[in-house]
Amino acid sequence: MVLFNYKSYLIFLFASLAVSIGLQMILPFPYGLVAAMAIFILFPILLRKRYANRIKGTGDSSGGGGFFGTNSSGGGGVRYVCLVCRNTVKGDSCSRCGSRQKRADF
Ligand SMILES: [Zn+2]
Repeated sequence: MVLFNYKSYLIFLFASLAVSIGLQMILPFPYGLVAAMAIFILFPILLRKRYANRIKGTGDSSGGGGFFGTNSSGGGGVRYVCLVCRNTVKGDSCSRCGSRQKRADF
C-alpha cells in the first residue's frame, strides 16, 4: 500500500488545523466543529486519490515520449524505457527490438 507524501501530509495537517480554528471562530458551535471534522476526514482521502491518480498517470503515458527521447547520454539516475516494447533501454537503442525511440522513466 502506497501512502502519500509525509511532508505534504504534515503541511495539510497544519493547514487544516489553522482552517478548523478559523471555522470555529466564524461558524456557530456545532457547525464549525462539523466542518472541521469534515475537512479532517475528507482531505486525506482526496489527497490520497490525487496521489494515486498521479502514479497511474505517469505509468500509462505512452504519448509525449519524445520530450526526453533524443537525449542519448546515459548518465545520472534516469532510466529509459523503449516506446515500442517497453523494455528498459541501456545505451542508445533498445536491446530487444533495436528501436531508438525511448522515454525517460523516473
Ligand atoms: Zn524495444
